Amino acid sequence: MLDRTTTELKKYRTYIDGKWVDAASGKTFQTFDPYTGEPWALIPKCEKADVDIAVEAAARAFDTGPWCSLTQTARGKALRRIAALIEKHAEHLAEIEVRDNGKLISEMVAQTRYLPEWFYYYGGLADKIQGAVVPVDRPEHFNYTLREPVGVCAFITPWNSPLMLAGWKLAPALAAGCTVVIKPSEYTSASLLEFMRLVIADADIPPGVINVVTGYGAVAGEALVTHPKVAKIAFTGGTATGARVNELASRSFKKVSLELGGKSPNIVFDDCIIDDAVSGAISGIFAATGQTCIAGSRLLVQETIHDVFVEKLVAMARQARLGDPSKAETQVGPVTTPPQYEKILSYIDIAKAEGARCVLGGGPATKEEGGGRYFVKPTIFLDVDNRMRIAQEEVFGPVLSVIRFKDEDDAVRIANDIAYGLGAGVWTQSVKRAHGVAKRIKAGTVWVNTYRAVSFLMPFGGYKASGLGRENGMEAIDGYLQTKSVWINNGPGGGNPFIMKTAS
Ligand code: NDP
Repeated sequence: MLDRTTTELKKYRTYIDGKWVDAASGKTFQTFDPYTGEPWALIPKCEKADVDIAVEAAARAFDTGPWCSLTQTARGKALRRIAALIEKHAEHLAEIEVRDNGKLISEMVAQTRYLPEWFYYYGGLADKIQGAVVPVDRPEHFNYTLREPVGVCAFITPWNSPLMLAGWKLAPALAAGCTVVIKPSEYTSASLLEFMRLVIADADIPPGVINVVTGYGAVAGEALVTHPKVAKIAFTGGTATGARVNELASRSFKKVSLELGGKSPNIVFDDCIIDDAVSGAISGIFAATGQTCIAGSRLLVQETIHDVFVEKLVAMARQARLGDPSKAETQVGPVTTPPQYEKILSYIDIAKAEGARCVLGGGPATKEEGGGRYFVKPTIFLDVDNRMRIAQEEVFGPVLSVIRFKDEDDAVRIANDIAYGLGAGVWTQSVKRAHGVAKRIKAGTVWVNTYRAVSFLMPFGGYKASGLGRENGMEAIDGYLQTKSVWINNGPGGGNPFIMKTAS
């Protein structure tokens, strides 16, 4: 059970090169409990000097030492040890995330209990990474490819699902044989540090293989992104930051994968099971207080059922229990960060000024309504035009825009009329429509008659401004590998040295 009684700030150290250390400068910053609004722990404020030490440690571990000489099978076993330790500590890790992030305990326990699957899955894949013998069109040659780890990887993660999003990157990177430096969000570093203490430090992972630099994005993050010994950046965060990271990383030709923002359409056709779709619409926008990249923040409702659907939706959303995220019965928790709280409220004002009609919520929840700080009432706007800012820009909060549509073509047009392309929902009982619309939506994930489902087996990522590359599934491991082509000439040398050696 989460304990909020101690007022003394817990002091964390970070984990670099297999050791627990303070920032080189000795500086720290406070991390806050979003429910109480009070600081509860101190986090090392790492800067460029710490990043340099961490990247050097990761580079050493990659080039020499026990990690790089492990067989792929032994790497797989290391991942399975990590998985077992996460299982052992799942409840504690969930509680820390609730404390630091304000996510619901019920969601967090489910998430940390599921996280080991990533390590089991990629642990199993570790010794199935293999090149190929290629039948090159010359009889005297023997040709093959090697699949090699890219090297030192830097992970930069956001505050909304800190542990899960680090895990999604860590499991395939380790399976591939890479070493890693992780910079978590300044708002939510604690769960990763607890993960390092309870899981990694106990899993017999050699020093330098996984390092953490806690600190600010503009300082520690940029130092990582520009470090010459970092070969790959895996970033999850906002689209503007992602663009900056991509630009900086491209100067030194780093590989980059980006999981960015979204403004996902959740499309309700008049042949759906209405109660299921109402529940799916709620789960799309009010789960995790709407602070999820895949939030179904644009609810497209067919005009034939619009009024009846909206009535049921508002009735259900009105019942949402706001409160302490550490209590099992709470359904909507606090907003995680003060700037995010301000941003959500400002978008509510923007929507009102644009002429959207607010039928639920529409402002901050009082202390009595929320039970703590930084609560926003679940908010629903009707009469939203898809070109309004409230429909085009990511709010990242419990604010739903309802947009009417006429028919299937109209729904697809509106759904795709957006810069983003992360997720989409489709509610229909028609198999033909389900497949047809799933194909026409420009998004990395389409859920039909469900929403916000993820699995280690299913590739996840964005079209358009929602990102580059895929996490999860077999595809994710490719992002941590590069291919080497090896040519062995078993025949005579010679030939014209001034022309390229082609087969004919
Ligand atoms: P930000 O983009 O603000 O931050 C993400 C990470 O980048 C943080 O660790 C941040 O550090 C760091 N950072 C900030 N500036 C720089 C920089 N100049 N160079 C390097 N790193 C930097 O996103 P948020 O943390 O606010 O997270 C919310 C966003 O994440 C939303 O837009 C959401 O859609 C997206 N997201 C996408 C997901 C996906 O899979 N597509 C999943 C989850 C979230 P610091 O915290 O210190 O600023």
